[in-house]
Amino acid sequence: MRCDVPWSGVRGHDRVVAELRRVVAGGRLPHAMLFVGPEGVGKRRFAQALAQALLCGRSSLARLESCGACDDCRQVEAGVHPDLLRVARGASQHELPIQAIRDVCHELTLKPMRGGWRVAIVEDAESLSEEAANAFLKTLEEPPAGSVVILIGVTAEQLLETVVSRCRVVRFEPLADEELAAILLDLGVAEDLEQAVQWARRGEGSVTRALGLADPALDRFRRTMVERLASEGGFDAGKMAQEVETFAREAGKESAAQRDRVRLLAGELARFYRGVLWQSAGLEPPCPDPSDREAAKRLAARLETDRVVELAERCLEADYHVVRRANLGLVIEAWMADLARLGSGST
Ligand SMILES: [Zn+2]
Repeated sequence: MRCDVPWSGVRGHDRVVAELRRVVAGGRLPHAMLFVGPEGVGKRRFAQALAQALLCGRSSLARLESCGACDDCRQVEAGVHPDLLRVARGASQHELPIQAIRDVCHELTLKPMRGGWRVAIVEDAESLSEEAANAFLKTLEEPPAGSVVILIGVTAEQLLETVVSRCRVVRFEPLADEELAAILLDLGVAEDLEQAVQWARRGEGSVTRALGLADPALDRFRRTMVERLASEGGFDAGKMAQEVETFAREAGKESAAQRDRVRLLAGELARFYRGVLWQSAGLEPPCPDPSDREAAKRLAARLETDRVVELAERCLEADYHVVRRANLGLVIEAWMADLARLGSGST
C-alpha cells in the first residue's frame, strides 16, 4: 500500500521501513546490513534516511525517525555529519580502495563525536576486492559498540559469501509505476501526470533509468538503431560502433556520463529484442514506441527465437562490461560486431 507521507523523503519502500521498525522494536538493530536491489530505486537515499534516524538529536531509536530540522539531521543531509562515514568507488576506479575500507574500520572504533552512533555507508559493495573484503570481515563480524555499517550493492550473488553471511540482507524491489511517477513529478522533470506515468513505465522501477530515458536525444538515437537492427540488409558494424561512441561522448566529458548513456542504450536494445520474442510468441510487445512494433515484426519473421535470445543477452553482456569499467570503445566495437553477425542469421 502506498504511504501518503514518505518516510524521511523515501518513497516506495514502506515494506522495508516496516521490516526495520519491527527489528528495532525487538531490540535487534543489525550492526551490519547489506542493501540489495536494482539500481536507481533509492537504496542510497534510504541508507541516508536510516543514518539520519540513528543520528538525529531529537528522535529516539525506538521511533526510527528523524526530525529533519536539528543540527544532526541538517549535517547528514549536507553530507558533513562527523559520525557518518561514506565510501564509494571513484569515477575512474575499478575497485573500492582497500585503504578506504581500512580507514572506515579504524574510524568505527573511535568514540562517536556526538555521543550517539557512528554509521558507515559503503556503496558499490560489489566492487570490494577480495583483499578489501577480507580487511572488512572482522568489523562486519563484530562491529564496534554503537556502530552500524550499511553496504549497498545490486545483488548478493555478486558479493563474497563471507561478506554476505555477516550482514542482514535487506532487499529493495523496483518501484511501482505509481511511486515512480510520483517521484518524477516531485522532481519536476515530468510536465504532467500522463508524461510521468509514461516515463515511469519505461523506467522499469528505477528513477535513474526513467530520468535517463526521458532524454530526447537518447530516444532519437535508440529509434535509429532499432531501424538498423531490423533492416533486411543488416548494417555496417564498424560504422555503427563509431556512431555509438560519438553518441556516448556527447553525454559529456565525464566517463561516468558516457558509460551511463551506453548502459541505457544497451538496456533499451535488450528490451527491444525481448519485444521481438513477444512478437514471435504471437503477443503484442510492450514497446514504448509504437514504431518499434513494426521493426520487431520484421525481425521476428526473419530470426529464430534462440537467436533473438542470444541478441538480447549480448546487450546485457555489454552492459555488464560497461559496469565493470572495461574499455568503452572496445566494448562497443565487440558488441556491435556481434549484433551484426547474430542479426544477419549467420553463425
Ligand atoms: Zn533531527
